[in-house]
Amino acid sequence: MKELFAVFGNPVHHSKSPLMHNLAFQTLGYEGCYTRWLLENGEELRETFFALGFKGINITVPHKEHAFEAADIVEDFAAEVRAVNTLVLKNGNLYGYNTDAPGFYRALTQLGEVKTALIMGAGGTARALSLFLRGKGIDIEVVNRSAGRLEWFEKEGFVCHTWEGFEAKRHDAVINTTSAGLTDDALPMPKELLDKAMGQASYAVDVIYGKETPFLKEAKKLGLPHFDGSEMLLQQGIIAFDYFTDHCFDLETIEKAMRPFSHL
Ligand code: NDP
Repeated sequence: MKELFAVFGNPVHHSKSPLMHNLAFQTLGYEGCYTRWLLENGEELRETFFALGFKGINITVPHKEHAFEAADIVEDFAAEVRAVNTLVLKNGNLYGYNTDAPGFYRALTQLGEVKTALIMGAGGTARALSLFLRGKGIDIEVVNRSAGRLEWFEKEGFVCHTWEGFEAKRHDAVINTTSAGLTDDALPMPKELLDKAMGQASYAVDVIYGKETPFLKEAKKLGLPHFDGSEMLLQQGIIAFDYFTDHCFDLETIEKAMRPFSHL
């Protein structure tokens, strides 16, 4: 019988995860099937998982913290950021992982050597990426529109600023984790600040996917090597697939099977 997987979220109809994972199951001859599940109440995540007989799930907005709470055993990094995006059932226990940040890191290192990065934004994604990248020896500076969400970064010892008084320095990569440009034509920072930061950088990365954001348009204009959030989506999916299939395949084999999804 096929093992059953899904992505839980709200909304979830737009998710490309079923396409990615089913393509890999098919290509690799693994008896798995992946669907999407609209979960309205995050408190019901665990009982829904067991009632529907899943082997593993991915969790997207807004339930990553509920997934952290639903897990019996959580890997260290996911516990630190209190955000789980992958749950797998093993011997009756739910194991929780965060594959967003390691996936992003796999994507980032394809661009070249990155020793310093400027992260724009201070939400959940910025928290996970800044901790993970710092753990990999990358020097991180954070800039956000308003002060409130920067408190956590200050406590964690990151250099951080609001736009006011921000002086752009040279960084290998500039990373947009804000939702500016997701549904509007906004840049993540006022244009003159952004141009100063990008003008000194080697690479630009956006976590938004499915459209060319004004941020990526600027990167293109400046001739910076760049990619959008679909690379992060793919890479987090590869690592999740590895957990789902209990390390049956190496990551390169999974990547080869999954990558064509972005052309479908
Ligand atoms: P949060 O809501 O936690 O944080 C949003 C951040 O964006 C805040 O720092 C906020 O600043 C800032 N922001 C919002 N609007 C603007 C604006 N117009 N100008 C400047 N800054 C702005 O979001 P998440 O961290 O959960 O998600 C951020 C993005 O990451 C989303 O676009 C999401 O789609 C994407 N994402 C992509 C993934 C992938 O696999 N590719 C995985 C996960 C997320 P302030 O504090 O001032 O309000």
